[in-house]
Amino acid sequence: MPDSDSDKLVLELVACDRCKNPFMMQKGKKLKKQQNNEEIVCENCIKLEKRKKKLELGVINSVIESQKEIEASIMEVKDKIDFSKATFNKKQYLEEIKKKSQSLTKSIDLLQKIDETNDEKYIEEYKKLFEKLQKEDS
Ligand SMILES: [Zn+2]
Repeated sequence: MPDSDSDKLVLELVACDRCKNPFMMQKGKKLKKQQNNEEIVCENCIKLEKRKKKLELGVINSVIESQKEIEASIMEVKDKIDFSKATFNKKQYLEEIKKKSQSLTKSIDLLQKIDETNDEKYIEEYKKLFEKLQKEDS
């Protein structure tokens, strides 16, 4: 007699399409996925993908925030130049804006590297940079 429930419990070893590592999958699922042209992805790669999505959102938000801040800083510089206030340190202001845009460039570079390599090392590096950026903001 047909017993589809017990079929589901049978596992087979398959290779992940992304990292090539072997993992266990329900028997027959691989064939179904291949027929539907779906990727066979292991748990680790799914987790990595989720982390990347979260990071990307974080970068986009921080880029938007920093852009606003840079614009605000530039407006401030313009205002102060217009009023020619003696107390205003233009050089320091420009340095701060420069530093901020360099950090931004670096974070976008790292994000591209994460995208290209899926390397955990870059994710860690990015997280550190992001924390640093947030500290500088506050
Ligand atoms: Zn994988």
